Amino acid sequence: MNAPLSSAKILVVGAGIMGAGIAQVAAQAGHKVYLMDAREGAARQAHAKLSESLHALLAKGKFTQAQVDDIRMRIAPVDTLADAADAGLVIEAIVENLDAKRALFGELEFLLGGDCVLASNTSSLSITAIAKGLRNPGRVVGMHFFNPVPLMKLVEVVSGLQTAPGVAQAIFDLSTAWGKVPVQARSTPGFIVNRIARPFYAEALALLHEQSTSPQVIDACMRAIGFRMGPCELMDLIGHDTNFAVTQAVYAANFFDKRYTPSLFQSALVDGGMLGRKSGRGIYDYSAGSKPPTVDTQPLPLPAIAHLQLHSRTQDAQTMVDWQVRLQAAGIATDLVTTSNWTGLQTGDLQMRRTDGRPASALGPQVVVYDWHLPQGSAPVLAFAASSGASVDNIALAQALLGALGFAPQRVADQPGLVAARTLAMLVNEAADAVQQGVCDPAGADAAMQLGVNYPAGPFDWLARWGAPAVVQVLEALDTHYRGERYRVSPWLRHALWQAQHAA
Ligand code: NAD
Repeated sequence: MNAPLSSAKILVVGAGIMGAGIAQVAAQAGHKVYLMDAREGAARQAHAKLSESLHALLAKGKFTQAQVDDIRMRIAPVDTLADAADAGLVIEAIVENLDAKRALFGELEFLLGGDCVLASNTSSLSITAIAKGLRNPGRVVGMHFFNPVPLMKLVEVVSGLQTAPGVAQAIFDLSTAWGKVPVQARSTPGFIVNRIARPFYAEALALLHEQSTSPQVIDACMRAIGFRMGPCELMDLIGHDTNFAVTQAVYAANFFDKRYTPSLFQSALVDGGMLGRKSGRGIYDYSAGSKPPTVDTQPLPLPAIAHLQLHSRTQDAQTMVDWQVRLQAAGIATDLVTTSNWTGLQTGDLQMRRTDGRPASALGPQVVVYDWHLPQGSAPVLAFAASSGASVDNIALAQALLGALGFAPQRVADQPGLVAARTLAMLVNEAADAVQQGVCDPAGADAAMQLGVNYPAGPFDWLARWGAPAVVQVLEALDTHYRGERYRVSPWLRHALWQAQHAA
């Protein structure tokens, strides 16, 4: 690589939703941009559409007239690739098809200078495979933007087996100069975001498949821990056909590793044309006149309780102090026990334990387990489950106590890891495997999930919050319950657990 990319002319191939966005961002950063599409007139149409949206932004005061004119002028629709022979960087955003991308790069290799970088915006294909057969596969790199490109900050800079480190670094630096947040990734199925995100959908689909609870409870539980949208409403928005296709691609590309097994529940939705919002029906009903289902958050009355014990390990101390204050306000005297190996509350023969992954029934006859939660905001929804022998009175008492502690409790089936704990543990596990395999580093995984899919925190932030012992416990409980490969603990996480144990 000789010339720096900061002043390079850029050829964007494919003037669809992504190509148009990439052209805008490159032009905004001051580059001369050629925009080419195989479909006649498509590049010109994209340019005209872009002009319209820039004028809308001008009306909103986001751009000045001079900026809009500059951006429009810098983008030149071209009819053939040869018209862009002086480009220093190609960003390909054509159809997601390996043969089409290989053929394009094969052609470009002969048309463009030997230093020109060939970047692909593919979201699922191997960069190593795209580069196969080229004279210089070292200049092929992934530059994976997220939709909508002008708004989403993340760029996954994806290196195939033959990508030259200098080429990946040049794309990293260029992305930074464009105001993006680049993250280095090794070319493996799903790269970072589409891989680590799989359990967010998969655990919700597993809960629905097993009829453990309703979609509205799952969504409310995940929103309660900070996600902007729950997994069911998000899949309905993305479209189940698209979401299912990504899961299938990751599953096949991992040689049918059971970890990534697609969901029968989702397959049925796709087969039935229930694709989500776009088809009027997905997990939820969007047809005219239908109302989104709600979660019942009516608190149960709290019976008189003279006294109860709070059990906590050190890391939960702040929650327990907060809970003592709340219970005192409800007229209940409390003791804090710090020597237990579980966290929660005890009154009479009722034990209420924060889930360690095991079902309540595995812990005793009068046990209620409740989900992982954050310091309370306004009445966050919290899943709980009761052991099969628990008395009706104890279940009602547990529900009333959770209400008094500031939650909107929702009873779900007594399966391991409830809703939030199993989903967060699996997200951490997937991120840990990605790091173990050198796909990215922990900081890269955290940035990618927050900027690529708007997660409220990164998987390694959650690991720091709940700790490796608790995460591994939940995964092992799931593994014991379901058997098979799906919930196996990442070797990286086991290592983190040993470190935590030796530090203790
Ligand atoms: P799109 O269908 O909106 O646009 C693709 C464009 O490429 C079309 O205009 C088509 O005419 C053109 N095209 C197809 N073959 C071509 C060829 N050989 N030469 C020139 N032009 C050709 O698709 P999109 O959603 O913009 O996706 C483009 C790429 O970006 C895909 O690789 C996709 O996986 C990836 N991607 C998409 C998203 C997304 O959310 N849509 C996000 C990240 C990455």
